[in-house]
Amino acid sequence: MTYHLITFGCQMNYSDSERIDSVFENMNIKSAEKNKADILIFNLCSVRQRAVDKVWGMLKNIKTQKHRKHPSASLGTGKSTENTKIKKIIIILTGCILPADKDKLKDKVDLILDIKNLVSWPNIIRDYFFTNYKLRITNYEPFKSYFSITPKHSSPFTAYIPIMTGCDNFCSYCAVPYTRGKEYSRPAEEILKEVNKLCVQGYREIILLGQNVNSYQSFMSFPPPIVVEGRLQRESPGTSNCLFAGIPACAVMTKDDVVNFPILLKLIDSIPGNYWLSFLTSHPKDMSEELINCFKECKHLMPYLHLPLQSGSDKTLKAMNRKYTAEQYVKLIHKIRKRFVNNSYIAISTDIIVGFPGETKKDFEATAALMKKIKFDMAYLAEYSPRPGTAAAKLKDNVSSAEKIKRKNYLNEILKKTALENNQKLVGQTISILAESIKDNFAFGRTNMMKNVRIKLDTKSTESIKTQKILIGQFVKIKIIKAGPWGLEGEMVKK
Ligand code: SF4
Repeated sequence: MTYHLITFGCQMNYSDSERIDSVFENMNIKSAEKNKADILIFNLCSVRQRAVDKVWGMLKNIKTQKHRKHPSASLGTGKSTENTKIKKIIIILTGCILPADKDKLKDKVDLILDIKNLVSWPNIIRDYFFTNYKLRITNYEPFKSYFSITPKHSSPFTAYIPIMTGCDNFCSYCAVPYTRGKEYSRPAEEILKEVNKLCVQGYREIILLGQNVNSYQSFMSFPPPIVVEGRLQRESPGTSNCLFAGIPACAVMTKDDVVNFPILLKLIDSIPGNYWLSFLTSHPKDMSEELINCFKECKHLMPYLHLPLQSGSDKTLKAMNRKYTAEQYVKLIHKIRKRFVNNSYIAISTDIIVGFPGETKKDFEATAALMKKIKFDMAYLAEYSPRPGTAAAKLKDNVSSAEKIKRKNYLNEILKKTALENNQKLVGQTISILAESIKDNFAFGRTNMMKNVRIKLDTKSTESIKTQKILIGQFVKIKIIKAGPWGLEGEMVKK
């Protein structure tokens, strides 16, 4: 039996999918191409209407299909059924789904499974196949908890590590508090173990994930664990061994056992290895002084921050329940950038929603003015769409679709200019990038500011291409020779 997984939404959903892959492999159900799979899984995101519409369209197109063989043949049940049967593909729906979207899609799918309850999936799927097809799925290992499932990382050098889930902020437009529930922070020790393991395996990039990482808070018994020969161990405080990879662990953690996000970052940063560390996503109201200081104190932390602005109008921010003003946001960016002097630089990206209910031309102009002032490196611009059940869905969606597109395009033009200006400052610099892929004689990678880079490869000899291919997943020194708004061009620096 085989499955195919289709994922929509943010990195959290992609990270969930890496654990879904592990669950299916554990049941000995193998991944397959979409048109060859017995089970289709949609990991949906209700945050944007577009994803829901796309899944709706795909589900309408999936009709009863002829299977190549009945699943029982591949399960080794002894009943080989070489005769082709007319059988429905089994469709599973999961993800960050609003109740209204579940209602809309439920008749088109066979199972709706709660991602928070991933540990129970093997039993549910086993019962489903036995009840409906008399198929036995056996010999799978039970999981203790969601986080005890070792994800099947889709990249051998970049790993997304969920550190918390859910959100208590209830921004009026957002589906997350209804789909993911209340904030839950993963125990720090579990996160440290996972990161340490990945560093030992040679991972080059660790990205901590959560809807609002900077409100992370967990508890850990004091003293924190230390790394001894690549393993986490506990030592008593005050001894000369009370070091976390060279940093006094006692200095990182206070005596009370609360681990907030800056402490977690410092503990992770103390894990030895050649890797970059970053995090997604932060709420401006939770960007503490202590966290801002981490950009200078943590050697692995990338000079990159994604800080959603959403709107430059105080009236709209209030209606969005964002709990900060435009001025506070600007001051915050100023404070963060002040930590980067003498040729050092932090790239800042953001999210902006255009056409929120009641957004007037004046409100929109305030957003445009703020974008010009802040000069973002990147911005993810979205047209507002009401999410059923949220507070904003009760407001009149009174900005026309054409006007939303116009506003989005206008902001995109501002972004194009500021991103280009920022990228041009990097021309001539020699920097390290993480090489990610090679295609058509070009290598592609990212800087530690999350900027895409394209490098023309030397194709003169077969040997040189071979040598360059080895660099995938490694840090490579390049010189930036050209800048565009959406990326950079570089050349390899000869050793
Ligand atoms: S902070 Fe706001 S936008 Fe972000 S997940 Fe929570 S409710 Fe949604």
